[in-house]
Order: sequence, then structure tokens, then C-alpha cells
Amino acid sequence: SSLFAGVALAPRDPILGLNEAFNADTRATKVNLGVGVYFDANGKLPLLAAVKEAEKARLAAQPPRGYQPIEGNGAYNQAVQKLLFGADSELLAAGRVVTAQALGGTGALKIGADFLKGLNADAKVYISDPSWENHRALFEAAGFVVENYPYYDAATRGVDFAAMKVFLAGLPAGSVIVLHACCHNPTGADLSDEEWGEVVELCRERGLVPFLDMAYQGFAEGISEDAVAVRLFSASGLQFFVSSSFSKSFSMYGERVGALSIVTADRDESARVLSQVKRVIRTNYSNPPIHGAAVVGAVLASSELCAMWEEELAGMRLRIRAMREGLVGALKEKGVAQDFSFVTRQRGMFSYTGLAAAQVDVLRGEFGIYAVSTGRICLAALNEGNLGYVADAIASIVK
Ligand code: PLP
Repeated sequence: SSLFAGVALAPRDPILGLNEAFNADTRATKVNLGVGVYFDANGKLPLLAAVKEAEKARLAAQPPRGYQPIEGNGAYNQAVQKLLFGADSELLAAGRVVTAQALGGTGALKIGADFLKGLNADAKVYISDPSWENHRALFEAAGFVVENYPYYDAATRGVDFAAMKVFLAGLPAGSVIVLHACCHNPTGADLSDEEWGEVVELCRERGLVPFLDMAYQGFAEGISEDAVAVRLFSASGLQFFVSSSFSKSFSMYGERVGALSIVTADRDESARVLSQVKRVIRTNYSNPPIHGAAVVGAVLASSELCAMWEEELAGMRLRIRAMREGLVGALKEKGVAQDFSFVTRQRGMFSYTGLAAAQVDVLRGEFGIYAVSTGRICLAALNEGNLGYVADAIASIVK
């Protein structure tokens, strides 16, 4: 019989399945709120002007395509460090940060997970309840047992910080804690600065290993404002991991531009850690692709292009915020009694709307509006053209 006769069909990715159903839907009024990407005011995936400029220059220069270093583009890695840790970071000056270009935020998480597995094979990994759906699968694929820590509180639509703290305080030293640095996916509920300070202290007291996942820097309050968790951990003197991504903030999803940064105790440790990170990369894909990181690096290295990017990123952030306010206002206008103002307090691309799976089914069946069964919607998929329709539909099912 065939070598593959016994291969079981893997479960479909729930969100990709949603996209397929959306694409097959023939209704002209259909709206896809299930996605995790930013669409502009016309419902289109943008190509940023700063990216176009940098690409024009690259095309004109026609650079050769040799292998990159295993850890990727050095100028890009340094630019990443400045965005995360701040241009005047003492950690950077002291050589305490190791950064490797990675295949998006996902690739950064996987390099970090593989390195951690070699460091402490018995540690467990803890992710927020709920979390980005790939966190669990990714750390499990790296060989870890993955469990949840309490996070979202459906009653307040915020974080149950008291429960989270109690839980973290009970974990054994060496436990890996995956934390969303800002714009929590899927809930939109973030920790306050004070709460971050408490998490840093807990990690210190309990000897926990923080792994910050920064996929949406610039989508909450601003580029440096959104790095508050990274900055607080930096000031603590602890060692920690940061995976970061430009997929959303540069609208470069398919170019796979991310990075893994690891904060060590000193320059000597950095050299040894980098050597192990390089080994992980070398045995996986040898070295990363050139184009995306070269474009992002060129934008960040040019004060003119960087200012252009910051403005475009601010435009995305503000448009999402306007859509949050627009949705809340429209629901109120349509006579919905339930208070939806929490939508304006949530940050980033997503909202946990509180809609139940059965209501999400009605949205899809009756209105052609696609949301994740957990009630997660992507605010960046709303625009002036579909907001009223979506608000009408939600109003009709929650009234
Ligand atoms: N981490 C979180 C929390 C995310 O939401 C995402 C993307 O949706 C990622 C990581 C992965 O980002 P990338 O597409 O750069 O791999």
C-alpha cells in the first residue's frame, strides 16, 4: 500500500477556512471581518508609499542576490533593536541584545522556541487564555507542553489581572510565559503600564522566562508608546525574548519580515546565545530571504522614508480607532441597549465583541458577514462603505 495510506487529514485552519467560505460567497454585500490584516478605507490591502519608494531605489540599484548572513541583514537587525528598545537603550550600548532577522513574527517565535527547548527541555510554556491560535501549536511543535494562564474576563471585557497574577505567582521557576506586548490578539484587551510593572516583578520573583510577542507595534498608541512592556522588561535587568513582526505595520505580510531579539546578561553571553540561535536557523532554512528586510531596513535608515512610514502607520492606527467609534456610535443610534463602548477601549486590530457562536452563524448566514466563531472581529476590515450594513446586522441580532 502507499507510504501515505495511513496519513490522517489535518484539521483545517479555522480562519483560512473562513476566508475560503467568504470567497465562495456570491453576495455583493458580503463583509469579511474574520481576517487578521489591515484594509484601507477602500477595503484594499495597502502597499505603503514608503515601501514603494524603497523598492524603486532597490530596483534601480539592481543589487546582487548572494546569501545573507545566517542571522540576516545587520542594518535591519539594528533598526529593529532601536524600534523595540529605543535608540538610546543602555542594553544596546552594552551589547546585551541579540537580534536575528526571522520569517515574520511566526518564524521568530519558532526560532525562539527551538532555542528554548535546547536550553530547558522540561520547562512548560504558558500562553494567555485565549491567545493567537498559532501560539499553542507552534510551541507544541517545538516539543513543549503548553498550558493557558488566565487572561480575558468576559464579564468586564478586559483582563482578569488578579487571576493572572495569582496564577503566574504559582508557576515553577523556568516556566516560559508568552505575553502579547500590545494589541492582544484576539481580545484587544491589554495590560496597563502599572500591570506590566507588576508582571515584570512577578517574573523576577518567580524566575519566569518572559517571551514578548510584538506583532502590532504602532497600532495602539504609537511606535514607542507600544513598546512599554519591552522597555519595562529592559529596565528590570532580566533576560527575556521578543519576537517582532513588520507584517502588519509595513503591510508586508507575504514578504515574511520579522525578528527574534534576546536580551542577555552581558556581551559575552550575547556571543554565545547568537551562536546557538544561528545554529537553529542554519539547520532550518540556512539564512533568511533578502527583499523584505532590505526594504524595511532602507525605510528605517532614511529619515525621510521613516517619517513617511510613521505617518502612514499613524493613518492606519487612527482609521481603526475611527471605525471602533463609528461602530459603537452606529449601534447606539440603531437603538441597541447593550453598552458596546468597550470596543473603543480595546486596542489593535481586533475586538472580542461578545457575540456568541450562534450569533456569528446568523451574521454569516443571513447577512454574509464573516466573523470568527469566538466573536472576534477585525476592525480594520470596516470602512465607511460597510460600517452601516454591519451595524444594522449586529443591531438586528442583539436587540
Ligand atoms: N503573533 C501574533 C499575536 C499575531 O497576531 C501574529 C499574526 O497574526 C503573529 C504573531 C505572526 O505574524 P507574522 O505574520 O509576521 O508571522
